[in-house]
Amino acid sequence: MKVRTLIQPFICRIIPQTLSPRILTAVFAISSVLLPVSVPAQSVPDSAGPVSTSNRLMVRGFVYAEEILDGVLVDLRYYGSNNFVGAPVDGYEAPRLIMSRRSAEALVPVQKELQSMGLTLKIFDAYRPQQAVDHFVRWSLDTEDTRTKTAWYPLVEKENLFDDGYIAERSGHSRGSAVDLTVADARFPHQELDMGTPFDFFDPSSGAAVESLSAQQRANRLLLRSVMTRHGFKPYRNEWWHFSLIDEPFPNTYFNFPVR
Ligand SMILES: [Zn+2]
Repeated sequence: MKVRTLIQPFICRIIPQTLSPRILTAVFAISSVLLPVSVPAQSVPDSAGPVSTSNRLMVRGFVYAEEILDGVLVDLRYYGSNNFVGAPVDGYEAPRLIMSRRSAEALVPVQKELQSMGLTLKIFDAYRPQQAVDHFVRWSLDTEDTRTKTAWYPLVEKENLFDDGYIAERSGHSRGSAVDLTVADARFPHQELDMGTPFDFFDPSSGAAVESLSAQQRANRLLLRSVMTRHGFKPYRNEWWHFSLIDEPFPNTYFNFPVR
């Protein structure tokens, strides 16, 4: 299997080193709300852009999505073990949904439209720290560990998850404007619409190969795709649940601050 070299993150210090950790936490908490924190402008020789390690808490331009999106359901899968790794993923320290403010605001009319139909967005992941993506890469290289194969990638060999586009060493999620989501009934018990495959099911049937889907499943996918693309998001052909904001605010920066 082809192993790609990860770009070494660079260090960008934005605060004095002499402050105590408690004070630093307070400074970050305040500055993330009130002060502009510069997004690293330095570049490394890679068209994918730099990985930022400067931001221990959220940088300006990111928000907790629940504070913007009325009634949204969140099931942050990488915070727990109900995911293809089978364990909590590095960098997810709290079940908080973080995304760029621009992408959260773009979801507002999506949610309103769905709510008018008695439906709601249910979001599985949005901002994903680079350390989480690194965890995925480490997991994928450990071909002995196939504990989750039956549930998550029964027909795809683990060593092919890279080449088939399900896992990459850089993810648009780390730029803060990609989101994994589905549609659910807005009423209790929030039944998800049947999309034919579950979230993160690494299989051709989660993408363009839809021959096995029922008419209802196709219609459900079309509903999600239609409402998202009408409000500025583009779909990903391999995964019905993945969308990214076309006009993303941080197109060249891969953030690494933890989700907390
Ligand atoms: Zn995604």
